[in-house]
Amino acid sequence: MQTERLRILLVEDQPVLRAHLHVQLSGQGHEVIEADSALTALQYFHEQRPDLVLLDVILPDRDGYWLARQIRQQEGSKWTPIIFLSAMNHDGDLQQGIDAGGDDYLTKPVSPVVLRSKLMAMQRLLVMRNELHRATEDLRTANYRLTHLCSHDELTGLGNRRGLNERLHQYIGQARREQRPLSLIMCDVDHFKRYNDILGHLEGDRCLQHVAGQISTACRRPLDYCARYGGEEFALLLPNTPPDGATAFVLALIHQMRANAVEHPDSQLSRFVTLSGGVTTCVPDHSTTPESLLRLADASLYAAKQRGRDRFVDLTTCMDTSLQVDTPPALPAASSSTPSARVA
Ligand code: GH3
Ligand code: MG
Ligand code: MG
Ligand code: MG
Repeated sequence: MQTERLRILLVEDQPVLRAHLHVQLSGQGHEVIEADSALTALQYFHEQRPDLVLLDVILPDRDGYWLARQIRQQEGSKWTPIIFLSAMNHDGDLQQGIDAGGDDYLTKPVSPVVLRSKLMAMQRLLVMRNELHRATEDLRTANYRLTHLCSHDELTGLGNRRGLNERLHQYIGQARREQRPLSLIMCDVDHFKRYNDILGHLEGDRCLQHVAGQISTACRRPLDYCARYGGEEFALLLPNTPPDGATAFVLALIHQMRANAVEHPDSQLSRFVTLSGGVTTCVPDHSTTPESLLRLADASLYAAKQRGRDRFVDLTTCMDTSLQVDTPPALPAASSSTPSARVA
């Protein structure tokens, strides 16, 4: 029988016995860290992270039971096998050792064969425990990925419909409690079918990723949220943003899209890919729902399409960016709470 090399913390106050055990363990191929008191052993335990602890009960400062309890409390979810080695051989001594967190209790003197076999058994448990730990970590990672996939769009990395719904509920509740304005913007790529028809769906996908990147960059405040609503439609949620702030935001987005333009082969509106958008802002009350806000933004988006596309409209405030977009606006400050509109 051959055991793998273990790093063993040997806690024994009697020098002769300690030296004897050291020779025995080294002879079996293990690395030995010696400690002659409980406090020193606790310090070495933290510094050197042994694979296993061989623990005498009677020590000069604290007893071995105390040390076992400290180790169990302090190592958290990790588990290091602890084997007591004691001259005390009553049933009650063994019980105390196991109660304190020990995994086995051997009485001195221990035969080398018994010690070696016990170490091997502990090592098997240790290997199983490590495999379990790895499997748990893998599961946690897979779970995180799944949760992420549930609320994110695979193509663009933005939120998806489900993520948007969650945020809408959350932001409406928060804005209602704080009586602050919440803006919702729905936007849609203009004549995107023609883009696909001429350049193909793969180029179309790349274009959607580019637009998503522009929208995401425009969301400069930590709580601004953007999602791909579906197809070539995107939704943006801007908490704590009144109508003039939302106008400043869409002007900045239009400006940014122009500065990072992608050519459209067949748009008729422009040489470049453009967006139409509907904006709505409200301080929510108890009648406000995600659906009511989406309906309002959608109505404004429809109006933007009807009026000729390549613009953002808010029907409630009569805002239409095609009437005011010629001078590029400054981007709203990332930190200020209510950006004001800069309109030509
Ligand atoms: P409008 O200006 O009225 O919005 O015209 P449009 O062509 O953009 O709108 P329409 O609703 O007629 O067509 C939307 C097109 O978006 C249809 C489809 O080819 C394209 N599309 C939707 N989802 C995807 C996608 O995931 N990838 C690609 N490449 N194209 C998509
Ligand atoms: Mg002792
Ligand atoms: Mg559409
Ligand atoms: Mg479209």
